[in-house]
Amino acid sequence: MNLVFLGAPGAGKGTQAEYICRHFGIISISTGNIIREALKNGTELGLKAKTYMDAGGLVPDEIVIDIIKERLAQDDCKDGFILDGFPRTVPQAVALDKMGVVIDKVIEIFVPDEKITERMSGRRVCEVCGASYHIEYKPPKNGETCDNDGGHLIQRKDDAPETVKERLRVYHEQTEPLKGYYEEQGKLYIVEGQEDIKDTTRYTVEVLEN
Ligand code: AMP
Ligand code: ZN
Repeated sequence: MNLVFLGAPGAGKGTQAEYICRHFGIISISTGNIIREALKNGTELGLKAKTYMDAGGLVPDEIVIDIIKERLAQDDCKDGFILDGFPRTVPQAVALDKMGVVIDKVIEIFVPDEKITERMSGRRVCEVCGASYHIEYKPPKNGETCDNDGGHLIQRKDDAPETVKERLRVYHEQTEPLKGYYEEQGKLYIVEGQEDIKDTTRYTVEVLEN
């Protein structure tokens, strides 16, 4: 099963992707995580991406398309995957189709903008492994550090309020048109993001099992 997860920044698609991939025994690929990893390692890709990312914008299509091409060529993708955060523009979706990658279903985790703004301010990520938490909705077990490795939890620069506003604008302008693109292919399913993350997961599983 090959899936695409869409959703405004902060709608919780990354968290859902993590849960759903475990449920179905497939892998989850986040272009955002790949880029952040490159940044941490100081690679050329990371340096190129940094300015766009910090400003709340999208990294140019050529760069992310190359990233995903390389990633999907790896062996562990053969049994299915979730693309979390790719495609984010129509040209990226066209490129994916041209690669011959067959997507079975596209899930949009839908949350209204007002709610997103409220949620993003509480988001934290582990400095070590990148796991994501929310101080209110998905706190770490001990309330302070990462469940996986005890890593320090930080607020991503791109989760700062003024950046969030810009990211939402970019989402509506560049990513939302993908809904029409996949609707035409008969692949789009919309799941409303619930207060309780587990409820959203349950609805998503239902959509995927039917
Ligand atoms: P994410 O963790 O998915 O929210 O991604 C964080 C940032 O990485 C985004 O705000 C973009 O700057 C960049 N990024 C991730 N995926 C893509 C993509 N498919 N196209 C363009 N930029 C991306
Ligand atoms: Zn961690």
